[in-house]
Amino acid sequence: MTNSTEHPAPHNHSLCINTALTLAAQLCIERGVQLTAIRQQVLELIWADHHAVKAYDLLERIKPLQSSAKPATIYRALDFLREQGFIHRVESLNAFVGCTDLRSIHEQLLLICKQCENVEERHADSVMQALRQEFALAGFTAHHQAIEIHGICATCTQSNNTPPLN
Ligand SMILES: [Zn+2]
Ligand SMILES: [Zn+2]
Repeated sequence: MTNSTEHPAPHNHSLCINTALTLAAQLCIERGVQLTAIRQQVLELIWADHHAVKAYDLLERIKPLQSSAKPATIYRALDFLREQGFIHRVESLNAFVGCTDLRSIHEQLLLICKQCENVEERHADSVMQALRQEFALAGFTAHHQAIEIHGICATCTQSNNTPPLN
């Protein structure tokens, strides 16, 4: 299955979220790890849209579902989901976003729209390859490689350029 991210929107998000959740559940079985209720709820809340979600907001949203949920519970679930490669941490926003390619552990280029806060994930293999060459030249060992770019997404650019209907 391929994930086309050529056109960020509009897309069928209920299909998008269901695919992600089904695949996550399947991968957990394959890997012999447990997708507990809280882990699944956190994953579902992060996948609610393509915006980055802060841990604090997750706690607020999960409280009505699990009144006993504490920050530590959320952080443990987030750690698990990150280790499994189901979500990514958006460092510059201190928030989390669902991964669009759950099967692989990979480097990512995140395009963050400052207008609608949508986060588009791209793998940008050629860019990452170029970076690895730079690291080699610098004798630098990179432990974690992710690039975050802030700007305006295609959808917002388009709507900004469309004159309002009178
Ligand atoms: Zn990813
Ligand atoms: Zn946007």
